[in-house]
Amino acid sequence: MTTVGTTVGFVGLGNMGGPMAANLAKAGYTVKVFDLVPALIAGVKGATGTSSAADAATDVDVFISMLPAGRHVDGLYLGENGVASLLKKNALVIDCSTIDPATARKVASGLAAKGITMLDAPVSGGTAGAQNGTLTFIVGGSVEGLERGRPIFQAMGANIYHAGDSGAGQIAKVCNNMLLAVLMAGTAEALALGVKNGLDPKALSEIMQKSSGGNWTLNVYNPWPGVQETSAASRGYSGGFLTDLMTKDLGLAMETAMQSQSSIPMGSLARNLFTSHATLNAAGRLDFSSIQWLFAPELKR
Ligand code: NAD
Repeated sequence: MTTVGTTVGFVGLGNMGGPMAANLAKAGYTVKVFDLVPALIAGVKGATGTSSAADAATDVDVFISMLPAGRHVDGLYLGENGVASLLKKNALVIDCSTIDPATARKVASGLAAKGITMLDAPVSGGTAGAQNGTLTFIVGGSVEGLERGRPIFQAMGANIYHAGDSGAGQIAKVCNNMLLAVLMAGTAEALALGVKNGLDPKALSEIMQKSSGGNWTLNVYNPWPGVQETSAASRGYSGGFLTDLMTKDLGLAMETAMQSQSSIPMGSLARNLFTSHATLNAAGRLDFSSIQWLFAPELKR
């Protein structure tokens, strides 16, 4: 598959989907975009706006979705007026949303019944990764489908992993995000402890980055305001990865654990912490690193 002549439909232009679609256009694909929020459609540089998901799905070689949760993905493809019946038979469908594995498999088999290959391809790397085209794609589905989609993934990301069959990408993503939640909560707790005992958060962050507590949140996503210029914490926790989306992912971890009778005490605690934070601090629409407020309420707006 080359970029010349390949037409891509893209639905879901939020914090992640908008910049991902723009990177496809930048790489030379013809991109047709749609979101329920009209202002987001106009904001995708180099793409052609459409007035419905149906329009964005008509006559495209590749169709990509980047939506909040399973019910949105199910509705988009298989719901009333779903795009499944509009897509070309040989189209490749890539769902990059983080959703429950059962819905990913259900939609994939609904599309397979129409001769359409679907990959679940949730991403890691945050909004910076989406903007810079450095996302990691965690792909579930056929190897043949992944190879067809490879140039598309390369236009939006830096790493592509095949996790296994349909739904496997979502399982790997759920494991990753559960670990991310635990790391973010632990990092916020450690920073608050240090500051309360007289340390400078920037100095403490540098020390822990280079010590055995070092982790991705300290490296690129520091939850304490002002420590890293580019982090969501330094812009009032706006944009980024919403607390509501993290609690959704921790709910997916709970479901996956119950189905497989796995014990996830750290994930359960993290889910309770993020859920309490969303409610107590009205933080559902803020970046998930605002969990810092639970440990350092003096930082609250
Ligand atoms: P977002 O809320 O910013 O964007 C979702 C967009 O989908 C919104 O603009 C919304 O209007 C649109 N939408 C919802 N239903 C629609 C429909 N039926 N038709 C058209 N548009 C519709 O969310 P986001 O941060 O971009 O995240 C999207 C997905 O990526 C989620 O599953 C999330 O868990 C995952 N994710 C997010 C991040 C991150 O850092 N933000 C990182 C990795 C994965």
